[in-house]
Amino acid sequence: MQNPSSEVAQRLQTIHARIKEGFAQTRLKTNSPPLLIAVSKGQSEQKIHVALGWGQRDFGENRVQEAVARWQRLKAENPDIKLHLIGPLQTNKVKEAVPLFDVIHTLDRARLADRLFEEMQKQSRFLPCFIQINTGEEPQKSGVTPYDAPEFLSYCKKLGLDVTGLMCIPPMGESPAPHFALLYKMAIELKLSHLSMGMSADFETAIRFGATHVRLGTAIFGERE
Ligand SMILES: *Cc1c(COP(=O)(O)O)cnc(C)c1O
Repeated sequence: MQNPSSEVAQRLQTIHARIKEGFAQTRLKTNSPPLLIAVSKGQSEQKIHVALGWGQRDFGENRVQEAVARWQRLKAENPDIKLHLIGPLQTNKVKEAVPLFDVIHTLDRARLADRLFEEMQKQSRFLPCFIQINTGEEPQKSGVTPYDAPEFLSYCKKLGLDVTGLMCIPPMGESPAPHFALLYKMAIELKLSHLSMGMSADFETAIRFGATHVRLGTAIFGERE
């Protein structure tokens, strides 16, 4: 069996090469290769340290509570770490999320926008946010529908939130390409420059459709515990 540390190191290098290759193939005019967010939920701290050792600085977590336990300390030790919230945010967790995270990928409703902006003002810490779009219009999934997106965007901008782009998670078992294409088209219409899309199984497709942020967990760290 291979040592898990060298496995993570190898996977990370392979992924960087695949991202570069995918970016070289896209015909869209994105300025630079997408940012790799290493999704560390459910992964051991040992593996995270390997990624840190290889220069990885952007990490993604989907639960505030778990992220606080682990990243408060790791961020104090490595001040250049950027932490991305990629899971649903409850309004009662906003107070804890604002000081810890650097980017919010899951802005999806007016009440959350209100609470976030209120808390950002209180803490004088204004985080860039992605609006999550429910591209498959799945009833159980968070995100605003493509139809509601323009109005929600103007609501957020009027509040004063820094909306930097759009994020989506395509429906399971469907081809992701049409969802990435839709998100790309919406970003152009809404004049937003960043797209958070693509996970371990589909990031190369996402890059072809203009992803600027890809979120990879198992492809870097292996199966979650
Ligand atoms: C868990 C998660 C990921 C990473 O998933 P992998 O398949 O392990 O790459 C990406 N985005 C979101 C929103 C997630 O919850």
